[in-house]
Formats: sequence, C-alpha cells, structure tokens
Amino acid sequence: MRELKDEYIHKGLRKQLVDLLRTKGITDETVLNAIGSIPRHFFLDSAFDRIAYEDRAFPIAADQTISQPYTVAYQTQLLQLKKGEKVLEIGTGSMYQTSVLAAMGVKVYTIERQKQLYDLTKRFPFKTEYPNIHFHFGDGFEGIPEEAPFHKILITAAAPKIPEKLWEQLKVGGKMVIPVDESDSTQRMLRLTKKKDGKEKRESFDEFSFVPMLEGKSQQ
Ligand code: SAH
Repeated sequence: MRELKDEYIHKGLRKQLVDLLRTKGITDETVLNAIGSIPRHFFLDSAFDRIAYEDRAFPIAADQTISQPYTVAYQTQLLQLKKGEKVLEIGTGSMYQTSVLAAMGVKVYTIERQKQLYDLTKRFPFKTEYPNIHFHFGDGFEGIPEEAPFHKILITAAAPKIPEKLWEQLKVGGKMVIPVDESDSTQRMLRLTKKKDGKEKRESFDEFSFVPMLEGKSQQ
C-alpha cells in the first residue's frame, strides 16, 4: 500500500480546481469546501499524482472511472444536502464522490457491484477519516431496504430508467439525482422530488456521459 501524502503542490492544484469549478457555475460553497478538502490524488494510481486535479474522469480498477470533479460537484450541488441526512449512493467506484458526501456531514450508504472495487475501498486507509460511510457490496437497483427511507439518493452510473425500488426507498420530500439514458452515449441529469402523494416532481438539467448502471453483481 503506498503512503498517502497531501503536499503543498496538491493543495495548490486543488485550490485551482475549486476556482475552475466556480467559473463553470458551481456556487454552493459547502460543495466547493468539500472538494477543496479532499485529496483526489489519494483515489488514483500514483501515476496520476500530478494530473489528479485536472477536471477530467480517469480510469480506475475493473474498467470503471472516477467521475470528473465538475460532475461530482454538479450532482452534489443538486442534492441540496443538509447535515445529518441519510444519503444512498449507487456506484462507490473510487470512493471519491462518497468522500465528498461524507465531508458534508451526511450519513452515506454506498453500494458497489464490482467486488474488486468494493474490496479496494474497504481496505483504503483514507476511509478511516469518515466513520459516517457504510459500504455495501451488491446490486444498486435493489437499494438497501433495511436502511430506508433515505433523504437523498444519488446515482453515479447511467441508468436506463428510474429504478423503482430506489424510488420506493426515498422519503417524502426527498430528492433523487440520476443521469438517465437519452441516447446510446449520453444521459440527461434529472432531479426527482417525492411529493406527499408519492408522485414525482421532475427537473431536467444538463447532458452527461457516465459508465452504465448494470444489473446484478460481479464477483471478479
Ligand atoms: N462515484 C464514482 C463513480 C464511479 S463510475 C467515483 O467518483 O469514483 C460508476 C460506478 O458504478 C462503477 O464503479 C460501477 O461498477 C458502479 N455500478 C454500476 N452499476 C451498478 C449497480 N447496479 N450497483 C452498484 N454499483 C454499480
């Protein structure tokens, strides 16, 4: 396991990243503070040490990606988090987005379907910084019924449609942020709010490109 060091160079690059996110339209200071506090290079192979703060997605294990910082900031801003809320995240991946949520003082329940990634995050030393993260290996389409309802649900993979079981696990007044397939390669970011009658209020945002949300789990 390599040593994790957060040096001046990383802090400087991170500050530049936060400034860039501001110019791209991220305005929620609590989100910008969280991004400013999390060493993104910890979540990548050491070969990416200096480019970790570019606003790009990068490959991680199991043919998956760490989301672009702008996408992480965008989705997190749409969630309108309040301290202490219970948040369900689908797609732990590198655990970067998970850590941004945890840094904002919410209780995070995160699910990953790739055993290899789940095992890596379980062993990741940085996770001890955030005892408010609960890791699950499983199929995100199923959610975590025994922990429901959630105030917020975040999906970080391209969903073919709104997963019904996840919608059921959302509190009344709660919000789901989800990129839903619009074409073979792009998704529309949606924010769904659950109304008192159980119906949805739907808001549409920008177009993004995520790796697919797949059914079942992978043991490899
Ligand atoms: N938030 C992550 C993004 C990872 S990419 C990060 O910042 O690093 C999306 C992740 O979703 C991948 O790790 C993929 O394995 C996972 N995924 C896809 N379908 C899933 C499902 N049904 N349940 C749980 N995780 C899923």
